[in-house]
Amino acid sequence: MTDTVLSVRNLRIEFPVRRGTLVAVRDVSFDIAAGEVLGVVGESGAGKSLTGAAIIRLLEPPGRIGGGEVRLKGERIDTLSDDAMRRIRGKRIGMVFQDPLTSLNPLYQIGDQLIETITTHLNLSHAQARRRALELLSDVGIPAPELRIDNYPHQFSGGMRQRVVLALALAAGPELIIADEPTTALDVSVQAQIVALLKRLGRENQVAVMLITHDMGVIAETADRVAVMYAGRIVEIGPVREVIKAPLHPYTKGLMGSIPSLEAERERLVQIPGSMPRIVAIPQGCAFHPRCPVAFAPCAAVRPELIRRERSEVACWLYDKQHAVIEAAR
Ligand code: SF4
Repeated sequence: MTDTVLSVRNLRIEFPVRRGTLVAVRDVSFDIAAGEVLGVVGESGAGKSLTGAAIIRLLEPPGRIGGGEVRLKGERIDTLSDDAMRRIRGKRIGMVFQDPLTSLNPLYQIGDQLIETITTHLNLSHAQARRRALELLSDVGIPAPELRIDNYPHQFSGGMRQRVVLALALAAGPELIIADEPTTALDVSVQAQIVALLKRLGRENQVAVMLITHDMGVIAETADRVAVMYAGRIVEIGPVREVIKAPLHPYTKGLMGSIPSLEAERERLVQIPGSMPRIVAIPQGCAFHPRCPVAFAPCAAVRPELIRRERSEVACWLYDKQHAVIEAAR
């Protein structure tokens, strides 16, 4: 039995428009256990950030949850009032975004921001909260925290600021952290440190981490399991080692091509031809079929559902026994 922290079932995200409703995310289901990192990967427009925003109920209007369930430790949170949800964000769910300055107020010393979060959510005195803030800064690798606690965000480098944001996300002892492209704005040399820190802190604190990124390399370094999204759906989900060693979905294989190979002298940065369809023009059948190098008869007509393959699930007709038989008979 795993200790499931986040459970998402059949999540649907929609945008009402003049002529009806556009569905941006459909039938997305996954769980994340305590201490586990689920990487959610896909190109821009796949629906991964929308999924993260829906879970924490920070979808930009007119986007809205149009169906499904989101549970935190068994309790439904997609139906909570805005006030109840505000209390959960920052306490039970920590957030890390691409730009640290989304989370940090440039006008306040970082210590004050940490202490405010701690005293808002935990029953601690100011002095106790300051001690906890110092511990958190030390945990996230800020050198000489007692000297840096009274600094302002602009006095930190980008990587150090993201460490402070991680301290802020952890301040109230959350059960879940949602990190949306936490390293994209950072120098390559700092990226690896931040993802390693996220992984270590998640494990040590038994926090479930949803790591949203377009970068398969970051997933390979950090995640325990990976969900690959395309055109608003999960097309492959499974243990990261297996998905990286033997990706099943042609789209995952294409994403894998964008990781620089360690063995090869030259980087094999293969681009997947074409681009992610826009939400108003998602192709019929398998949404990937116009870009798929191995598309065959049923792909343009009927959409494949997720099929279990050992410890993974994949939505592709290549793995459907009936269609495989039809193809073999051709
Ligand atoms: Fe390619 Fe068809 Fe599989 Fe879609 S269902 S990924 S088009 S083979």
